[in-house]
Amino acid sequence: MRTAVFPGSFDPITRGHVELVKRAVPLFDRIVVAVGVNAQKQYLFDLEQRMEWLREVFADEPKVSVDSFEGLTAHYCRRIQARYLLRGLRNASDFDYEKTISQLNEIVGDGLETIFLISQPAYSHISSTIVREIIKGGGNARPFLPEGLQLPARHDTPA
Ligand code: ADP
Repeated sequence: MRTAVFPGSFDPITRGHVELVKRAVPLFDRIVVAVGVNAQKQYLFDLEQRMEWLREVFADEPKVSVDSFEGLTAHYCRRIQARYLLRGLRNASDFDYEKTISQLNEIVGDGLETIFLISQPAYSHISSTIVREIIKGGGNARPFLPEGLQLPARHDTPA
């Protein structure tokens, strides 16, 4: 069974994340979209909300499930017997950061392999950070969010 973990904060999930997972579906038997919980980090949306969105977005993908974890990604992968990590690359700064993390994960995770997909040009400008800034500033973030995703009323803007 080829299991990949797609780890991230997903604060919130964007069209970029969705595109990446859809392209990875044919490559694996199972993809676990796993929300990493870091007690030191401040999130805009709480864990339950982020997981609920992920479950909704991937409801029609039988190979995709949603989970959360604390601690090291590599240890989580071992726990659920996943031998692959899935990550997206948008640009050179993603590459520099991801390269180091994947090399560490290969050691800490005893051969855990990171599989990178380069984002499609139409999505390479989208990041959760930018989406959060738009939401906090009262702008319309819908073009970057998965179709149909409902923002809590306090964060929504008129269509
Ligand atoms: P993190 O908290 O680790 O930054 P994110 O939720 O921001 O997690 O992202 C998780 C993964 O999704 C990362 O591998 C990131 O490169 C990838 N990703 C985010 N946005 C996009 C995008 N627009 N296109 C492709 N991959 C993306």
